Amino acid sequence: MRSFGREMGFQNNFGKLKSGLFRMVEVLLFPEKCMKCGVYTEQDRNRSHTLESCFCHACGKEGISPIVPPLCTSCGIRFKTGESHVCGDCLKTPLKLGRVRAAAEYKGIVRDAIQLFKYHSKFAMAKPLEHLLFQTFLQYYETLPIDLVMPMPLHRSKMRKRGFNQAYFLSRNFKTLYYQAFRRLPSWDTDLRSLVRIRKTESQTGFDIEERRKNVKNAFKIVREDRIKGKHILLVDDVFTTGATCNEAAKALLRHGAARVDALVLART
Ligand SMILES: [Zn+2]
Ligand SMILES: [Zn+2]
Repeated sequence: MRSFGREMGFQNNFGKLKSGLFRMVEVLLFPEKCMKCGVYTEQDRNRSHTLESCFCHACGKEGISPIVPPLCTSCGIRFKTGESHVCGDCLKTPLKLGRVRAAAEYKGIVRDAIQLFKYHSKFAMAKPLEHLLFQTFLQYYETLPIDLVMPMPLHRSKMRKRGFNQAYFLSRNFKTLYYQAFRRLPSWDTDLRSLVRIRKTESQTGFDIEERRKNVKNAFKIVREDRIKGKHILLVDDVFTTGATCNEAAKALLRHGAARVDALVLART
């Protein structure tokens, strides 16, 4: 028994030594840089693939501000105190969306990561952002009878300019992630084709709520009505500001027979 134990100990130490050496070589060959300022960062094995591990200490000091209850049960905006309820804005002008849930506030490293990914094509940000989004999906939607997960479509002119749809990148592996988490296939499917953005809209920056709503009016078209009829749909996007775009998409889906439309986003302002 003793020699068996010694042997196991030797094997464990050897295993550790091997993975340590491998890690050292990996660090020497592929040193990690802060995605924002470019300085070399110290490797932290326990944090690899997290959003925090993509930034140096200085750039990452603001961290993530997760959105936790109390929040508006409709648009998901966070309240400082009290209990979750429908906020004043949603009471005044109810959203077509059932419930909107976001992983974090649009600030700190979440905002930096989204901007680096979207406007500077830093695809290394996609994995940690996808992970954050999927965790939020599990938190709020895993137990709901969702039928379709649908990334927000971009207009083809924007697709051409940016080269990719960030919402698609963030949700395209959801089924695989689900399978890895539960060892079974989800009851929902992903849908990339039924909803299309047909109108090129101006940037919403600087617009108030009313202007934003007008700007995106009739911007979407349903091309596969049979796919969405009677379905509970979850729209996925990166940032939710006033929700005008998501709401307009929900309006189009509901008009063509969807039963309910919710939204899951990475960040909200
Ligand atoms: Zn940095
Ligand atoms: Zn609200």
